[in-house]
Amino acid sequence: EFHPLADSVQPIFDTVQARSPHEPEFHQAVHEVLHSIAPVLTKHPEFVENGVLERLVEPERQIMFRVPWIDDAGRLQVNRGYRIQFSSVLGPYKGGLRFHPSVNLSIIKFLGFEQIFKNALTGQGIGGGKGGSDFDPHGRSEAEVMRFCQSFMSELYRHIGEHTDVPAGDIGVGGREIGYLFGMYRKITNRHESGILTGKGIGWGGAQVRTEATGYGAVFFVQEMLAVHGESLEGKRVAVSGSGNVAIYAIEKATQLGAKAITASDSSGYIVDDAGIDLSLLRQIKEVERGRIVEYAKRRPGARFVEGGNVWETPVDIAIPSATQNELSEASARILIANGVRAVAEGANMPCVPEAVEAFQQSEVLFAPGKAANAGGVATSALEMSQNASRQRWGFADSEQKLRDIMADVHDASFRAAERYGAPGDYVVGANSAGFERVATAMLAQGV
Ligand code: GLU
Repeated sequence: EFHPLADSVQPIFDTVQARSPHEPEFHQAVHEVLHSIAPVLTKHPEFVENGVLERLVEPERQIMFRVPWIDDAGRLQVNRGYRIQFSSVLGPYKGGLRFHPSVNLSIIKFLGFEQIFKNALTGQGIGGGKGGSDFDPHGRSEAEVMRFCQSFMSELYRHIGEHTDVPAGDIGVGGREIGYLFGMYRKITNRHESGILTGKGIGWGGAQVRTEATGYGAVFFVQEMLAVHGESLEGKRVAVSGSGNVAIYAIEKATQLGAKAITASDSSGYIVDDAGIDLSLLRQIKEVERGRIVEYAKRRPGARFVEGGNVWETPVDIAIPSATQNELSEASARILIANGVRAVAEGANMPCVPEAVEAFQQSEVLFAPGKAANAGGVATSALEMSQNASRQRWGFADSEQKLRDIMADVHDASFRAAERYGAPGDYVVGANSAGFERVATAMLAQGV
């Protein structure tokens, strides 16, 4: 199902598939990078000669562990925990933890691999890693979530550290889980080391704007792409999928910048609200009540709930897929294109299938891959690390301005790399090439 690659990289991909079979998401992420950096390898044969790619596709370290915990009924539950420490050439491993029943080695490796290039692109001195568990927080009590997090940390603590590996949140891991994880680390080690996790509460080492950063950053990236063509977000209709942390703050920032965000979704279906999403209602349902999206349509006059299906059926100017990997199919891409979509930015990691990305690019839709568009989250985690290390606390406006500047830099680096490598306007080539160049250059300098 994967189309052939250039002769210099096909054997590397063959090895990945042979060595790590049954990891389709990981293969997909590796294939995309190997394909899009072909011009970099032509210009820099030293990267090929020194086996940079052979090394990069193999994680530096893979940790898998048992997570036993007792549920509210007194029964023993066992989940599997992961931490993939992919590359530390640019800084300590950095990347989130995902708690979701779909989590397996393939998913964590694809996310960790993407994280290497995304983190490089931020210019913040952070390596790439990812972790998580197949634990399903849905329907679990507070006490069960706490016991699970404590058990998870009772193994993870020995692998992390301010200068080693700094996890954060991802799907299923928000402020609540980071709190329980941090508390357990503190108890085990008798050290209040704020730099071991990011996404902490504002009162105990957390950074302003970290919660908002991924969603805000994706919208700032859209702003940058539109600005190249003298366009703005003013009056644009925006479809956002998902209803988690990324989606909520993408909706908030798009609305603040004069656009109208009209959709949100969860695994049961989606809502359309032509008047523009009522953010306080959405947050009440998803963050406070932890309920289903159908509740929104029940309480908001004029909004409708569509069971199943997906938000891409809604005619919009801008699409920000912010739910999960491979959520936007080729068929959905065709519908968006037929409805005149102008820009698509990946708020989630790898939400668009490869055929959808190709369709957008062939139709001259501005397309921002997750490595660039959602880099604001991890970039702001790096700002949290800076504040922790220096015992400083920066204000909201100041932190948001830093995020804005970083997203402008990420856009600029991607845009210019695309031009340099003969693919003007192709942000996939641009983001992968710019990120890869930084990682590969450091690898050469540091030796085997
Ligand atoms: N999970 C987020 C991502 O995919 C954030 C990671 C972090 O802040 O370390 O980039």
